[in-house]
Amino acid sequence: MTTLHEPTVTTTPDELSVWPASTTELRPGDLAVGGVPLAEVAERFGTPVYVLDEAEVRERCRTYRHVFPDAEVLYAAKAFLCRAMVHWVEEEGLGLDVCSAGELELAVTTGFPPEKIVLHGNAKSPRDLETALRLGVGRIVIDSPSEIARLAAAVGPDGHQKVMVRVVPGISAGGHDKIRTGTEDQKFGLSIRDGYAQHAIARILDQPQLELTGLHCHLGSQITSVKPYLAAVRRVVGLMARLHEQHGLVLPELDLGGGHGIAYRPGEEALDLTALARKVRTELTEACGAAGIPVPRLVVEPGRAIAGPAGIALYHVLAVKRTGDHIFVAVDGGMSDNPRPALYGVRYAPRLIGRASAEPMAPVTVVGRHCEAGDVLAADVELPADVRPGDLLAVPVAGAYHLSMASGYNLVGRPPVAAVRAGHARLLVRRESLDDIRSRDVGL
Ligand SMILES: *Cc1c(COP(=O)(O)O)cnc(C)c1O
Repeated sequence: MTTLHEPTVTTTPDELSVWPASTTELRPGDLAVGGVPLAEVAERFGTPVYVLDEAEVRERCRTYRHVFPDAEVLYAAKAFLCRAMVHWVEEEGLGLDVCSAGELELAVTTGFPPEKIVLHGNAKSPRDLETALRLGVGRIVIDSPSEIARLAAAVGPDGHQKVMVRVVPGISAGGHDKIRTGTEDQKFGLSIRDGYAQHAIARILDQPQLELTGLHCHLGSQITSVKPYLAAVRRVVGLMARLHEQHGLVLPELDLGGGHGIAYRPGEEALDLTALARKVRTELTEACGAAGIPVPRLVVEPGRAIAGPAGIALYHVLAVKRTGDHIFVAVDGGMSDNPRPALYGVRYAPRLIGRASAEPMAPVTVVGRHCEAGDVLAADVELPADVRPGDLLAVPVAGAYHLSMASGYNLVGRPPVAAVRAGHARLLVRRESLDDIRSRDVGL
């Protein structure tokens, strides 16, 4: 437990622009988030540790409700999920988007209303579908033709399930090739261009126990421009108009997915949500008007933009090594708790915290402790030249796709998550211990 400290030093807002709004500098070099000094969080829970600013998560949920007042906002659970997160999202009035029986079961057993959950997945396992039907999930997004018969059979002739169809609008958008999902040549969705989407829709309409509520598309992730979303609206509404003509079908929902880009480093661009909401609304109204179909209810599915900027990763420096051209600063975490730099070359802006340094900044590469040369957390960043073992480093914008993608590599155990709010820190997820790892290892 900590008391709320008054900030005594003001930093230039630019430097902290990617940090949670609650961030203050108590003394030079000593940052607090949610009223709790980060050095204190590291001391209490050990490192590496993930810190989540509850107020920042809630505020981001509220922003979505505010800028998309008529839309359904679903938080994409894969960005980061734990039981507290489930509560916050529910209390703020959002629905949930899940991709597995695991995410779904965690949410529902925490009290999340199943009818406000949408299940995705390009390859849903029998267990995913069984769990979805057993728990009464709101909608299931069909992503392949073979799923239709499987789902219809599982629902049974007397059952009823709402479904959407994920279509491929044929639009390239997103921060990296590996996170572009709106183009033709990738594994998600059914192509409009090749007619697979239309074919699947006709088959769904033949299944009386499946109720098609709308079309879904997700263009990719870390998109910072509104334009691809407007193009997607035109494509999908074009398909809705043809379905209306051919089948007299009126679909009440259009799900535009997520992918809203955020700034990872000061000066980077984020997607302007107000502009997105306004322009999508206009485009949707105009396109539907021109096609002579009713305007469907919009659904959006932000993940990263809700959780990402609310999280901070804290590490201790274990070693500093000077080689030919580089200074390597090695920390006590790495690619097992944040695989993103290795996967997509993402750049971060780590900061020395807990002490002030009078030294000038020097270019360094922050690396992890894992047995791979590619285990780099932040290449070519600036840290004080006297950075040394025992120092604390904080990596902002660490709330999304870090812990949810964490691995068991080198058996170091996944870090804990602590929430901070109004001067108090509390543990949400404990550190994975050697006992946890040993208890799964049941053979000899
Ligand atoms: C990953 C995903 C999202 C969320 O993406 P973000 O980039 O985190 O906003 C939303 N919908 C679907 C279908 C997804 O796969």
